Amino acid sequence: MTQYPHLLAPLDLGHTTLKNRVLMGSMHTGLEETGDWNRVAEFYATRARGGVGLMVTGGMAPNREGGVFPGAAGLFKDSDIENHRTVTTRVHEAGGKIAMQILHAGRYAYGQECVSASAIKSPISPFVPKELDEEGIEKQISDIVTAAVRARDAGYDGVEIMGSEGYFLNQFLVSHVNRRTDRWGGSYENRMRLPVEVVARVRQAVGQDFILIYRISLIDLVPNGSTWDEVVQLAHGIEAAGASLLNTGIGWHEARVPTIATSVPRAAFAHLTGRLRGAVGIPVITSNRINTPDVGEELLANGVADMVSMARPFLADPDFVAKAATGRAKEIAPCIACNQACLDHTFSGKLTSCLVNPRACHETILTYAPTAAPKRVAVVGAGPAGMMCAIVAAKRGHSVTLFDAAKTLGGQLNLARQVPGKEEFDGLVTWFADEVTRLGVETRLCRAVDVADLMQFDDVIVATGVTPRDPGIPGQERALGYIDVLKGAPVGKRVAVIGAGGIGFDVAEYLVAGGHSTTLHPAEWRREWGVGDPAVTPGGLADPAPEAPAREVWLLQRKAEKPGRGLGKTTGWIHRAALHAKGVKMQGSINYDRITDEGLWITRDGKAELLPVDDVVLCAGQVPERGLYDRLVAAGVKAHIIGGADVPAELDAKRAIDQGARLAAEL
Ligand code: FAD
Ligand code: NAP
Ligand code: SF4
Repeated sequence: MTQYPHLLAPLDLGHTTLKNRVLMGSMHTGLEETGDWNRVAEFYATRARGGVGLMVTGGMAPNREGGVFPGAAGLFKDSDIENHRTVTTRVHEAGGKIAMQILHAGRYAYGQECVSASAIKSPISPFVPKELDEEGIEKQISDIVTAAVRARDAGYDGVEIMGSEGYFLNQFLVSHVNRRTDRWGGSYENRMRLPVEVVARVRQAVGQDFILIYRISLIDLVPNGSTWDEVVQLAHGIEAAGASLLNTGIGWHEARVPTIATSVPRAAFAHLTGRLRGAVGIPVITSNRINTPDVGEELLANGVADMVSMARPFLADPDFVAKAATGRAKEIAPCIACNQACLDHTFSGKLTSCLVNPRACHETILTYAPTAAPKRVAVVGAGPAGMMCAIVAAKRGHSVTLFDAAKTLGGQLNLARQVPGKEEFDGLVTWFADEVTRLGVETRLCRAVDVADLMQFDDVIVATGVTPRDPGIPGQERALGYIDVLKGAPVGKRVAVIGAGGIGFDVAEYLVAGGHSTTLHPAEWRREWGVGDPAVTPGGLADPAPEAPAREVWLLQRKAEKPGRGLGKTTGWIHRAALHAKGVKMQGSINYDRITDEGLWITRDGKAELLPVDDVVLCAGQVPERGLYDRLVAAGVKAHIIGGADVPAELDAKRAIDQGARLAAEL
């Protein structure tokens, strides 16, 4: 008897049956744009082999004007079909099913040619879209239909029509973006005409035996967004037009409410899918911050949805479903919703990958082949770099011993997990520790290792990490370090944090939260961020009502730029907004003069002043811990160095894990 009877139950769609209730949601990986379709095919085939019921590709533009950026992949031409067929053939050979997402970006398209319902620029784009005339609208519909027909010819099992997240079809639905007075604007019947027409025409063109998913925005999270009645009215129209499944979209891209970041509670928006499910006859799919089989199972068992969509979890572990189905759920590498190697890469024009799984999107390039010559390998330092290196080396057949001076595995991840909103790091440390055990890595903890301990190994890997930088501020012996604070040292009510990097921001969040994380309390989190009910306010926005901060905090840096500029591309704004809501004073251009019993003396704009704080916390960056490596080299021992011990600048767990995996793949 499986632990996940609902998740693993087949879903009969009439003309075809999905083998389970798990959908891999659409992700733009950037692979198609490399032109290496073998690599694209391997990405999807790997996940098909891992047992997922149905996959949706990254968004494919139906025409040039609808592409998210110039040169974005699409299915504009018949000559594109062959490339896509490589993917579908390989997926089918692997026993999977795949639908192609058709994504028309409308005014979100990053280019002069962008089009929309009205000529209204989005707050996240520099381009004013061209308002479509009747002929222009017909062209968009017909291009979407043609793309769907080509998808069918290319062997896809279906298409998903992207109607949420503020993209083209969604833009027609809301009056502040659609100011038209013709049959495509004005009343809601007119505004919903385009998505319904698109679905009807696609269904007519592709026939009945083809999966047609429509992704519907359940809560726009923008002012004057759709009301719940409108969402339901649209869902009825889409169902009548011939959709097979309704997938869930949450929030427009321009929304100022986080919807998938790690601090968003798990399944925070699933209740809305549950509400829609009661109102329509076709199966509905729930999504957003679902990352374990247990969460998926619970949602399905409670009747919230007919399927669950997970996207990033399939970057972290392509074998998610197979492991869940064979009693190995504990082995699933967890997606911690950090966005660091996926969305941050996508929005920086880089290839997508995954912090936890550097093989994601590099399946054909980074392989962990069994070794023909097993070695005795010592890894010193059980932070993410060392743990990943040990795991991959052991997986390849080497005999690995992992040393750490601390009494637990995890290195600095054990500090990260103390930060409210970063609870997902708990699961990551647990997964690493379980894998270390499962793969037979010998661990030796509570022991600072030196050269003499390492002489009998064939390969020594130094992953000793970093230590806090000494900022040399007069009186700093009165200050606390971030390690003390995150390990629970008492801190006063008024606090200055020196250094506004990733750790400074995390420490500030820890200090204002006062030991309480709203990420673990969805209703409180929704209040904090102003997530209301679209049945009460259009778009589901409410006035944010954060709890009062536990402390008065100053977050300081020497640079003149806005604090937080170096934070994650897609998550930095969330950290800044969260601290702003808690009244944290984020200030740059600060010179630290001295710390006294009165507080922190600073100079700003040439003027000396006292911040009358009870405590100062040092988060002034880090320096590499290279002592052991230098001693090994001096002793003539061949050693490798990875992670923070190698280069501390711009170090994060993503780089540490990637470096550990790549070295182990070569040993
Ligand atoms: P470390 O994690 O520093 O591990 C080094 C290990 O080596 C330690 O366990 C240490 O005990 C051991 N060691 C050292 N010398 C010896 C010796 N001689 N013998 C035996 N053992 C030894 N990164 C992200 O990517 N995303 C985040 O959201 C994030 N948040 C963070 C939040 C906080 C509060 C902190 C502190 C860090 C955060 N980081 C984050 C950074 C991330 O944790 C580090 O970049 C990463 O842990 C560095 O990995 P590492 O393996 O190189 O070193
Ligand atoms: P960091 O991002 O490099 O920030 C160091 C901070 O210290 C900066 O604000 C810097 O600003 C200040 N500083 C540097 N030298 C100083 C000095 N001599 N005196 C006083 N202030 C000084 O490093 P970090 O915050 O320690 O974080 C370490 C790594 O962990 C980062 O690279 C980060 O990527 C990672 N991390 C990531 C996350 C995440 O959410 N992704 C979270 C936490 C940590 P000024 O020089 O302007 O003063
Ligand atoms: Fe998940 Fe982070 Fe990997 Fe993206 S990079 S898939 S958010 S763990």
